[in-house]
Amino acid sequence: VTVAYNKDPSPVKVNLGVGAYRTEEGKPLVLNVVRRAEQMLIQNESRVKEYLPITGLADFNKLSAKLIFGADSPAIQENRVATVQCLSGTGSLRVGGEFLARHYHERTIYIPQPTWGNHPKVFTLAGLTARSYRYYDPATRGLDFQGLLEDISSAPSGAIVLLHACAHNPTGVDPTLEQWEQIRQLMRSKALLPFFDSAYQGFASGSLDKDAQSVRMFVADGGELLMAQSYAKNMGLYGERVGALSIVCGSADIAVKVESQLKLVIRPMYSNPPLHGASIVATILKDSAMFDEWTLELKAMADRIISMREQLFNALKIRETPGDWSHIIKQIGMFTFTGLNSDQVAFMRQEYHIYMTSDGRISMAGLSSRTVPHLADAIHAAVTK
Ligand code: PMP
Repeated sequence: VTVAYNKDPSPVKVNLGVGAYRTEEGKPLVLNVVRRAEQMLIQNESRVKEYLPITGLADFNKLSAKLIFGADSPAIQENRVATVQCLSGTGSLRVGGEFLARHYHERTIYIPQPTWGNHPKVFTLAGLTARSYRYYDPATRGLDFQGLLEDISSAPSGAIVLLHACAHNPTGVDPTLEQWEQIRQLMRSKALLPFFDSAYQGFASGSLDKDAQSVRMFVADGGELLMAQSYAKNMGLYGERVGALSIVCGSADIAVKVESQLKLVIRPMYSNPPLHGASIVATILKDSAMFDEWTLELKAMADRIISMREQLFNALKIRETPGDWSHIIKQIGMFTFTGLNSDQVAFMRQEYHIYMTSDGRISMAGLSSRTVPHLADAIHAAVTK
């Protein structure tokens, strides 16, 4: 999508295909707190560039587990969590997949339909068998909760189930807390293993704790799970490749063994992870003033996205565009699954120079107050043509 967008000479072109945050001016954003952390790191002359251990920066690992599971998490207090620094969210998913393929008794992983395009490849190449569970209902542009429960119920006992912790990509549709609770009960009753993917903590609601509620429910029951965390979106560290894989185990003793096996997975893949990005994250997470500054900047990004949803919804209402567009304000996070079909997407590209993936997914972060009216005109024309 981006290649085609770059070739288009039109001055009104808009790229809604990118999976990265953009400012109101359409520019990538480096958070102020990240710049400040980098300056502190550079000015510290005692810093050296030695290799990290195989498992990464110890402070970063501890702080990452605390961020997602909560400072008072029983699993952390009981030392039941093995955390390793990985290459962003993708690397965390892959290391988790490799570990499961090597050591876990059930090789089937259930992934939502649809899901982030890389999920099936990551897990299949790690040696797992990927199957899908129903997730999205095109008729309601919401969750197919009944389908989800049915498909998860018929999974073999012990199967792995991939869950998006919040801000499901590409649909922007998340279960409610009550639905999460039902999913949790069903999964625990069938001994299914949750593998959470958290790529948008703080990006959905603007609150880091709120966006971790689904995960914390599963940790609170004392059961096992895997957690892949990414700092690409919520700290804007896309290219620094900073993430963590945490495995919540049944006991402290098992966590030590799991960590040791994770080292054996990582060592032949890339030996040890990079230093810079993890140092930025650890600097911010361990200083309460910097942490607070981060949460404000994160909330500002989340709020801008929410405001884009409202503006687009209102623009379609004013134009009396046929159809129910309330899903635009109901869906959560970076993306909206518009419900536009591939013909309509092609029409909008051709006639309005608006670029999105052919499934009709748009990145709300790629919009601005200036481009919303143009997009609304295009959607209106596409559905009334
Ligand atoms: N999971 C989901 C659901 C995602 O949307 C993404 C990024 N688009 C990732 C994982 C991985 O991102 P990264 O490797 O850049 O952290």
